[in-house]
Amino acid sequence: MNPTEKKESAADQGQRCELKCPHCGGEFEAFLVEVVDASRFPELKSRLLRNELNRVTCPQCDYMFLVESELLYRDPERRLMIYLMPGAGERWREAEKIVKSLLVNYLAEFGGSAEPLPEVQLVFSRTELIERIFILDKGYDLLAIEYIKYLIYTRNAGKVNPRSKQLLFNAEDSDERALWFVIQDIPTRRLEGVLKFEHKAYRAICETFREEPHTRMLRSLFSGPVINARLRVLSDEESDREDDARGPEGGPQSPESGSAGEGERSPG
Ligand SMILES: [Zn+2]
Repeated sequence: MNPTEKKESAADQGQRCELKCPHCGGEFEAFLVEVVDASRFPELKSRLLRNELNRVTCPQCDYMFLVESELLYRDPERRLMIYLMPGAGERWREAEKIVKSLLVNYLAEFGGSAEPLPEVQLVFSRTELIERIFILDKGYDLLAIEYIKYLIYTRNAGKVNPRSKQLLFNAEDSDERALWFVIQDIPTRRLEGVLKFEHKAYRAICETFREEPHTRMLRSLFSGPVINARLRVLSDEESDREDDARGPEGGPQSPESGSAGEGERSPG
């Protein structure tokens, strides 16, 4: 059989794994999906969006739980791959290695094509992955949405503390009048409130960022593969602290903190 003509099914998109029930500690095997290809397996995508993908039931105590495991979401039409690494942003450093290996695998699979390589994005939670897919599917500008979150974190300091609260964009309930953001408490995962942002202001931000030097500023603020306003604010704070510790005679300002400073200015 020609391996390139191998017929794929949803069962090829993952593997059987040993799991441990968080409720009774019993061990069992279950099939976990590892790749969701939005065009070839739309049913996997809808299960992911309904939060049903990799939801398993313990055969010993019937406890149902979601398995947080690594997942690759592929959207070939958008030339985009989103890799989910459950856990926290502290695994940022692994990001570059993963992106490289994903692109090497991609070349091995679709090699020889002269088309440009897909874009790779990294997310650190299933919630973020689902949020990201809705943003893209509903046609919102991802960078503009993250920029609005950045403004909320940096200007409403205290109200939305990036250390303990996460802002999620609710693409489903947003319309041409208003964009809605949900505030989630990170330790408890409780949804604690909503914030409204005028759609008019969102359009103005999109408009502004279409022109230089704003385009360049936005791209340097979220240069990828991690496009996440919260982690960006936290890493800016981290580098500010390092600069303070070094004192005024310290090394040159990194270009990172320079661009973040610009980010606090209102566009237009
Ligand atoms: Zn159990």
